[in-house]
Amino acid sequence: MTSVSPLEAGTPGQTGAYAAQAYQWLKQNLNDRLRTDRCLDQPASLEEKIRFEAAQHRAGLAGITWPKEYGGHGLTLREHLEANREIGRAPMPNAINSIGKELAGPIIMAVGNERQKSTYLPAILSMENIWCQGFSEPGAGSDLAALRTKAERTADGWRINGQKIWTSGASKSSRCMLLARTGAREDRHKGLVLFAVPMSSPGITVREIQSIDGDRSFCEVFFNDVIVDEAEMLGAPDEGWAAASRVLSIERATNRMYRAWRFESELDHLIAACRSDNAAFAIMKGYRRELAQCRVEVELIKGHVETLVDDLLAGQQIGPRGSFPKLYWSESHQRFAQIAYEIVSRFPPGANQALKDLRARMEGIYLSSRAETIYAGTTEIQLDIIAKRILNLKKAA
Ligand SMILES: Cc1cc2nc3c(=O)[nH]c(=O)nc-3n(C[C@H](O)[C@H](O)[C@H](O)COP(=O)(O)OP(=O)(O)OC[C@H]3O[C@@H](n4cnc5c(N)ncnc54)[C@H](O)[C@@H]3O)c2cc1C
Repeated sequence: MTSVSPLEAGTPGQTGAYAAQAYQWLKQNLNDRLRTDRCLDQPASLEEKIRFEAAQHRAGLAGITWPKEYGGHGLTLREHLEANREIGRAPMPNAINSIGKELAGPIIMAVGNERQKSTYLPAILSMENIWCQGFSEPGAGSDLAALRTKAERTADGWRINGQKIWTSGASKSSRCMLLARTGAREDRHKGLVLFAVPMSSPGITVREIQSIDGDRSFCEVFFNDVIVDEAEMLGAPDEGWAAASRVLSIERATNRMYRAWRFESELDHLIAACRSDNAAFAIMKGYRRELAQCRVEVELIKGHVETLVDDLLAGQQIGPRGSFPKLYWSESHQRFAQIAYEIVSRFPPGANQALKDLRARMEGIYLSSRAETIYAGTTEIQLDIIAKRILNLKKAA
């Protein structure tokens, strides 16, 4: 079988002790059922993926920068980047608990109290608790400050009523990082509060929505007189907007840091598999310029990530600059997915196994890429942020 996985090629992609450690562990532990570059009759089950992710953490490949007292490895963003380059190069599924590890965890560390930190954080890394993010609502996506889900203080705790939508992974989650409103809707950014809501609470209904790629991880979540203990409030009431903005800037800037290397591995896979067959090679040659442009864009995205990491290590805030990698990554990857899809769609019937695997992978990437310019803030919203907050442009009269 033609494969271009670095795991077969036999070398870590980057120098650095942590990269070598990550590479070795992935080589030994990423089994065939978990690989995304093979079309398998029986890919890994949710339970297998959860076990793999927990093992990944024990091997030092998750919670890399988190303090040791909360189950982390106490290292720097440099080691995090080294490991993520290798994770991106390996053909492996996206993490089940990336919302827990990459969004909820950092916020709990920033605004949570000691009990919340010592309870929630180790349970995220061990995969005992999978988290989802309950921000978007019908009518409050890009305009998040328009959200209506209401939190009222009662003698028993907070009573929550409302509806969330596009809540990724809600049906598999045990906790929801929920943004709700304590004040009037007209107050916009004021009177918002963040909770760590147990998904087993009475009054919560989760409905899965099937997406175009057949996945059922999207959900609607309904809150009907759900009582949430005061102890589950993350930070102060009324400081929810500041905490939510922090979540969004992480989501755009450093979440899934491996994306550029994953993109590169998909591009390498496309080229190597096409080379395994004369007809496929001839089809691919017709897209030489486009593929060269993709290669350039991969390098630019890597550059964005490396610069952000350097800046964060130097103590700088990222703020609105997170919109650049979000915009660039999602737009470039969507273009690549379109080109790859066009190429594999033209393969003749009876293609070899390497081409069948490639076709299955690229079709999946094409379908899921349609959402990349929407989640974590749409392209239009990123352009708006860059125009207003970086270029200081005024609205046209
Ligand atoms: C795959 C996927 C996973 C997601 N996972 C989650 C999750 O786990 N948790 C969660 O809370 N949310 C999640 N979301 C929701 C996501 O954050 C929202 O879809 C997104 O913020 C856009 O909001 P909306 O869908 O309400 O679109 P709208 O805000 O209604 O936007 C519709 C269109 O209008 C444009 N538009 C809106 N306002 C402006 C403006 N001021 N200027 C210019 N153009 C504008 C938008 O760019 C867009 O093109 C997910 C979405 C997707 C696709």
